Amino acid sequence: MRWSDPITKLKGIGPKSAEAYHRLRIETVGDLLSWFPKKYDTFEADRPIDSVREGRLVTVMGSFTGVPRMITTGKGKTILTCGFRDATGTIVAKWFNAPFLRKQLTQAKYVLLRGKVTRDRSSLCLVQPEIYSPERYRELMKTLRPVYGLTAGLSKTAVAKAVREALLQCEIADPMPAGMRRELGLWSLRDAYEEVHFPKCEETTKEAIKRLAFDEFFRFLVGIRSVKEQTEAIPNRYPADSLTYAEKIRESLPYPLTGAQERCFREIAEDLRGASPMQRLLQGDVGSGKTVIAEMALATIVEAGYQGCLMVPTEVLAKQHFAELMRRFEPLGITVGLLTGSMSAPEKRIVREAVALGKINVLVGTHALFQQSVEIPELGLVVVDEQHRFGVEQRGRLTDKGVMPHVLLMSATPIPRTLAMMLYADLDISLLDEMPGDRLRIRTAVVDGSYRPKAWKFISDHVKAGEQCYVICPLIEESDGLEAANVTDYAATLAEELPGVRVGLLHGRMSASAKNETMEAFAAHEYDVLVSTTVIEVGIDVANATVILIEDAERFGLATLHQLRGRVGRGSLQSYCILVQGSDSDEARERLEVMQTATDGFAIAEKDLTMRGPGDFFGIRQSGDNVFRLADPIRDAEVLALAKRTVDGLTREQYRKAVKLCLADSAENVVY
Ligand code: ADP
Ligand code: MG
Repeated sequence: MRWSDPITKLKGIGPKSAEAYHRLRIETVGDLLSWFPKKYDTFEADRPIDSVREGRLVTVMGSFTGVPRMITTGKGKTILTCGFRDATGTIVAKWFNAPFLRKQLTQAKYVLLRGKVTRDRSSLCLVQPEIYSPERYRELMKTLRPVYGLTAGLSKTAVAKAVREALLQCEIADPMPAGMRRELGLWSLRDAYEEVHFPKCEETTKEAIKRLAFDEFFRFLVGIRSVKEQTEAIPNRYPADSLTYAEKIRESLPYPLTGAQERCFREIAEDLRGASPMQRLLQGDVGSGKTVIAEMALATIVEAGYQGCLMVPTEVLAKQHFAELMRRFEPLGITVGLLTGSMSAPEKRIVREAVALGKINVLVGTHALFQQSVEIPELGLVVVDEQHRFGVEQRGRLTDKGVMPHVLLMSATPIPRTLAMMLYADLDISLLDEMPGDRLRIRTAVVDGSYRPKAWKFISDHVKAGEQCYVICPLIEESDGLEAANVTDYAATLAEELPGVRVGLLHGRMSASAKNETMEAFAAHEYDVLVSTTVIEVGIDVANATVILIEDAERFGLATLHQLRGRVGRGSLQSYCILVQGSDSDEARERLEVMQTATDGFAIAEKDLTMRGPGDFFGIRQSGDNVFRLADPIRDAEVLALAKRTVDGLTREQYRKAVKLCLADSAENVVY
């Protein structure tokens, strides 16, 4: 079986599960193998009952008290409850539809329970806890359990089975010669894939991640370099030097550009009339004002008689940008089109035709733009917003057609400068290192759960003053479904607690169009508070939003918190960020407190790098950077450095082969 074979070739995957995989964009055996666990569950040490908190997954050790009680509900479901005690206190354990456990509970002596803590009226409960003997649990504490981002119709066990089968059947050719592997101290690709999906222990899993991260960095670096080399060899087919339109946009703005914006646009304008196509990265913190620069660049390319496109990672952003471009470009007579995945086929066709005929000057769209073939005959400039979600391959595809448009990548990913230098060494970089002057500093507070009622009151006061707020719910890694349920509950509670406040709801399980509608309604102030998962992380711009409350903030990387915080403070009003700490660890508090003092994304990213504890390794990604499926430039900084040295040291011949590898869709038949 080959890497590129459809997953339906695997035993046990029928049309129904294929459909579920399809929703996760897993089509081939290779896609499945490189669908990496989101994180690894570890079995934490047990804790005293008096220290457990609502909302957490905990393990407690003790014994059952009294007789288990079982009630049967009207619908014939059973609820089994039993008290559980250790030296510090008691908690109620609760199981649904598990009558068979009753006997086990009465016989059990000293056991560990592992489950999620909820509050049932006044007492704390462990819901559906797993039961372990002390011996068994000690064994498990050495292991890791992969956690995938599951979707409806796929279970953990089904995924494990499919991956097992794929590992058995699929040839995994290692593009890296054995000698090179030994020299670099890296595992074979097959071993690495096996280990990430079926981890033996922390040490070995780290080795596997190291190898896979190396490959990702390697491809990325080679990819960027090759695109750069190609563009240098190609003449600028889309020279643009008249800046009348850009000037008009500048004049129409209600504010003056910052010095940094002026400088960055000058650099771009120079590229546009230069000898070869632009390959530039515009890097600027959230809120530094990248959009208007993109608009001026696009207007310039249209003025020269060409077309442009703006690519963004999400539908919500696409729509928002589309609306803004319409407003800005209309007075100049520049026509704008929108193309997103959720549009109907006929709608898409109309837009595609208009673009092909040159009736649309600037096309805004999601990545679907590049997945489906869109012909933009006079495409002179591609702007990619939040470029970290946009791979080298897609960029390479632009050059495929032999004509190379100008490319402007825009990123707010605050990764430490040293790492950025390694990753983007082969790009020209413009740095937007100045914030628009009218910004007030966002006031940030770290609080614990007991402060929540006050925080809600604070939100309600700001709503009364006509402002809007975001509430970000905790990350739930087990599944999108649980996360959705959690956000839904939270929103309902909030609506109950704050009568008269209009609460909106946003999560990853919603359809693209439902998400859009909600975001638009929020932007139009039809909601006062938006309760959301991190789907709002990128680029959303609602100037009237002044408070963001983030639950279980310690579960997020600092860089992600910074991105989230950037959703407020976008207008001239004083804004606030409330970080609710869900765990009582001092380390977590110390990390969160960085957010109180630091405002610069790059400084925060540096801190993330130095404060990252070893325990975080298998948890959430640190950098919020999504160029990579598994590699994390912050966590895997050393691997990145190794990949960089390796790429720099390649012979011409090796490099040539590596380029082939990076532009190929799979690892098949390519050797470094
Ligand atoms: P980002 O760099 O995060 O994409 P945006 O381009 O969305 O930032 O800009 C954030 C907000 O700042 C927008 O509301 C925009 O209108 C405003 N803005 C941009 N440039 C300036 C400026 N020079 N002075 C004041 N406000 C600005
Ligand atoms: Mg932006």
